[in-house]
Parts: sequence; structure tokens; C-alpha cells
Amino acid sequence: MIIVSSCLIGEKCRYDGRSQPNEEALRLYNMGAAIPVCPECLGGLSVPRHAAEIVGGSGEDVLLGCARVICRDENGKAEDVTNKFILGAYRALAAAEKYSACEAILKAKSPSCGCGLIYDGSFSGKLREGNGVAAALLLKKGISVRSL
Ligand code: SF4
Repeated sequence: MIIVSSCLIGEKCRYDGRSQPNEEALRLYNMGAAIPVCPECLGGLSVPRHAAEIVGGSGEDVLLGCARVICRDENGKAEDVTNKFILGAYRALAAAEKYSACEAILKAKSPSCGCGLIYDGSFSGKLREGNGVAAALLLKKGISVRSL
């Protein structure tokens, strides 16, 4: 089994209430080979929700307690949602373990699902090297992760 980001198979679970359907993810799901997970929803965040970015590091740093996940409303007011992102990451890992998944195909650039590149925490659209929180946890547990 392969874990896939729910938004890649058409679930409207993104922060803006939209999906990001992807042909490869949908093909795997329709074959019965993929388990969809949305770490941010599993962590208790609502749809829609304010956009979040990792501030002060990467997903690995968040798991180590050295960086935070912050969301900002339209007026720039910040809220710390780190604990929800960590909870969602562990619930995504639990799903991977339940289905013995050894691979995950996750949505690029997300502060949860991004693999290799994420937004840099400045809320200006700039990217930095690094993984989202759930991607970092899955990688740490030996699951192969790639982005779409
Ligand atoms: S990128 Fe990940 S956390 Fe964000 S909506 Fe898609 S599945 Fe959920």
C-alpha cells in the first residue's frame, strides 16, 4: 500500500477548501493501491483554514521542538498550530503502519506533506529546502516519500 495526500485524489481538504487532483495519485487510488491521508485534518484543523508555514526551520526541526508551525489570518494575526501539525503527522504515520505502507506520495511544498521544498516561513511565497512535518516523520520512520 502507498500513502497519498488526500488532496491529490480530489478531496477538498486544502486550507482554501480546494483539492489538487493528480493523475498518478488518482490512478493508484482507483486501483485500490493507495490510502489517502490529510495530516492537517487528522490533526484537527478545519477546512477551510488559514494558510500555515513552518517558521524557524523544517519539519524535522518541528519534531525536535526547534521550530514552530504558524498560521496567519487575513489581518496578519498569527496562531501557533504546531501541536496540531505534530498530532496529524503521528496519525498519518499510524495509518501508514496500519496498512504496512512503505511509500508515500505527498503534495509538494505543504508544511505537512512537502518533501524537499517547503515555504520558508515568511509568508511571501518563497521556498526553502526542507520537508513538511508529516513527510519528515514518515521519512524518519523509514518510509520512502516523494512529492507530486
Ligand atoms: S497537502 Fe497534505 S495536509 Fe495539505 S491538504 Fe493536502 S493532504 Fe492535507
